[in-house]
Amino acid sequence: MGIASVNPTTGEIIQTFESLAAAEIEAKLDLAQQAFVQYRQVPITQRAQWLNHAAKILDQERDRFGKLMTLEMGKTLASAIAEVEKCAWVCRYYADHGAEFLADVAVQTDASHSFIRYQPLGPVLAVMPWNFPFWQVFRFAAPALMAGNVGLLKHASNVPQTALAIEEIFLQAGFPQGVFQTLLIGSDKVASLLEDERVKAATLTGSEAAGASLAAAAGKQIKKTVLELGGSDPFIILATADLDTAVATAVAARMINNGQSCIAAKRFIVAEAVADQLEQLLAEKFKALRVGDPMEASTDIGPLATPSILADLDHQVQTSVEKGARVLVGGHPLADRPGNFYLPTILTDIPPSSPAAQEELFGPVAMLFRVPDIDAAIHLANNTSFGLGASAWTNVPEERDRLVEELEAGAVFINSMVKSDPRLPFGGTKRSGYGRELGIQGMHEFVNVKTVWVK
Ligand code: NAP
Repeated sequence: MGIASVNPTTGEIIQTFESLAAAEIEAKLDLAQQAFVQYRQVPITQRAQWLNHAAKILDQERDRFGKLMTLEMGKTLASAIAEVEKCAWVCRYYADHGAEFLADVAVQTDASHSFIRYQPLGPVLAVMPWNFPFWQVFRFAAPALMAGNVGLLKHASNVPQTALAIEEIFLQAGFPQGVFQTLLIGSDKVASLLEDERVKAATLTGSEAAGASLAAAAGKQIKKTVLELGGSDPFIILATADLDTAVATAVAARMINNGQSCIAAKRFIVAEAVADQLEQLLAEKFKALRVGDPMEASTDIGPLATPSILADLDHQVQTSVEKGARVLVGGHPLADRPGNFYLPTILTDIPPSSPAAQEELFGPVAMLFRVPDIDAAIHLANNTSFGLGASAWTNVPEERDRLVEELEAGAVFINSMVKSDPRLPFGGTKRSGYGRELGIQGMHEFVNVKTVWVK
């Protein structure tokens, strides 16, 4: 189905949208270019005011925006509202720190005066996924707009209402026309946008296939890209871990966003000494999770965003089982109701050749692996093509130091689940992508780092 809001809880089509015609895309690109010429001259204090205003709108209308996300992609309402609040936080963070992050940096050289200046690039294309449909966009837009760039959003085709609501927020906040525009287009239009001289750079959050395709198109045009792709994050529990806290956190880390998060813990790698106990505790907690309508406050797990995500996940689970994996809990969709519901699932005895060992499973499915010691834990954790986040649990300082040093990931969280935070850079290594969002590093992705030498 093209561009459409379809309620994942019921399967009901809410609204369909026409993809923009070529002339409409052309007009938006022109507007973006014209807006950039003016906008890059706007004092940074004014940009900060508009970002703070956007934060205020997000706070004031958190319930409305939260409901919109829940309606379009099925995350629980409480988590959707929390996501809107986090977007307000990232706007305020860059409004407060943008000037400092973009200030000239003096460097002592043979010149009488030499320094680094950060300048905006121009229109940046942001190709975004449906899973955190507000957060993914704001974590790109807040630093990019603060730096003086203008944004062109190509959002996922199943969240068009959210995409339009975000454009409206930036306009209401006071940003001039054209500084942030939503393009309702399919992914088939992305490569031609990158060929357009007016688009200067691109960022994509999504699957490896989409990332590779965008990077190839951008590479042909020698344009900068940032890629935030998939993950199969390890969650390592060693023998000295505080087991109760680790298990409670493991459930939250796997089930965040109905299991559809790039940094959700996916592979639970557990020391043999505590594996039986861990398995039992985790199984109890998974069975107690309430699956249902994401608008209801009592619901822990809502539906998956689309029927194809449900079908793909079930296929990965069934193939893993055929290859020898054992289902400890769950293991199938909910057949007795409409919507894209999958039971919270735990797989164990997972063969290395199975999808559960090798691929990202994007839904409420945990994979359990037993290991004899920390060496085996680190080896297994790194034995993946991904390298996004890693969570590890231990109370031994030497083990902690090894995990921090040896885990191949963009982030290592000790005795905590992996999460994003405006103050810290976020991104991956290996096939999880490159570049960083958030923190000062995120702000420096879409700027020209100009070296200035004055004699
Ligand atoms: P997806 O299919 O790659 O879609 C993401 C975006 O890319 C959508 O806007 C999509 O548009 C577009 N797209 C798809 N194919 C494209 C192509 N060939 N060229 C250009 N654009 C293309 O991703 P998904 O499966 O919906 O999202 C889940 C994935 O995103 C998971 O792998 C997850 O781990 C990853 N993710 C990563 C992060 C991170 O920060 N690292 C965060 C969240 C999610 P259409 O909707 O129109 O197809």
